[in-house]
Amino acid sequence: MGSNTVVNRHKERGRYDTGTIYGILDGSLICHVAFSIDGLPYNMPMIPVRIDNTLYLHTSARSRFYETLSKGTDVCIAATLLDGLVLAKSAYNSSMNYRSTMVFGKLAPVTDPEEKLKAAHQLTEKIAGGRWADCRQPSESELRATGFLKIPIATFSSKVREGPPTDNPEDLSLGYWSGVIPLCISRGEPVTSPNDEGRTTLPEYLQD
Ligand SMILES: Cc1cc2nc3c(=O)[nH]c(=O)nc-3n(C[C@H](O)[C@H](O)[C@H](O)COP(=O)(O)OP(=O)(O)OC[C@H]3O[C@@H](n4cnc5c(N)ncnc54)[C@H](O)[C@@H]3O)c2cc1C
Repeated sequence: MGSNTVVNRHKERGRYDTGTIYGILDGSLICHVAFSIDGLPYNMPMIPVRIDNTLYLHTSARSRFYETLSKGTDVCIAATLLDGLVLAKSAYNSSMNYRSTMVFGKLAPVTDPEEKLKAAHQLTEKIAGGRWADCRQPSESELRATGFLKIPIATFSSKVREGPPTDNPEDLSLGYWSGVIPLCISRGEPVTSPNDEGRTTLPEYLQD
């Protein structure tokens, strides 16, 4: 796949280091996997899991997604962290602060059961640190039913916008407020499952 991974528009926002992409992938609970089947485009939301320089996705081993993509279809996987709404003096210069990334290449199926287990462990810990040791772990049949796919983090680009609005000099004296409204995802109060009421207590690692 001939990917051009150099950011052209706002070149100064392009980032190509592993530290930036690792931070985005690790901080993202969702990524979108774009691919084409029979000339039709799809863009599938999934959970990105990174171990070292490999990005893992998981799905049903019987899904069309798994069957198609394990054959080596070209994909572009995008993840974005939204950091703020940027309100400039003008509508035109208003923007968002973000860290976004795209990984290009082909996914390959994970066949080694040990590697599958490692990816399942990382996924569970990503959802809630401390959870792997505090839940029933996957059985052999559950692991067989789960298709893991992996892609090396080799062909990629990241793009980062940060800081205040960029106003035109002639707009600076206008009396409209300008600035940034920070955005972040936060975890709310845990809600105990109705099946579990009075039977268990909230573990410490979920209390913060
Ligand atoms: C939350 C969010 C909202 C956005 N909203 C808009 C919008 O409404 N309109 C708009 O025009 N643009 C928007 N952008 C920017 C958009 O993602 C593109 O960067 C921009 O449109 C330039 O596209 P291009 O095809 O000209 O990119 P080019 O700079 O020509 O792209 C060349 C290569 O740069 C890399 N690249 C480009 N953009 C990104 C990116 N965002 N992340 C990682 N790598 C990238 C890719 O490898 C790509 O192949 C938004 C970005 C984010 C993160």
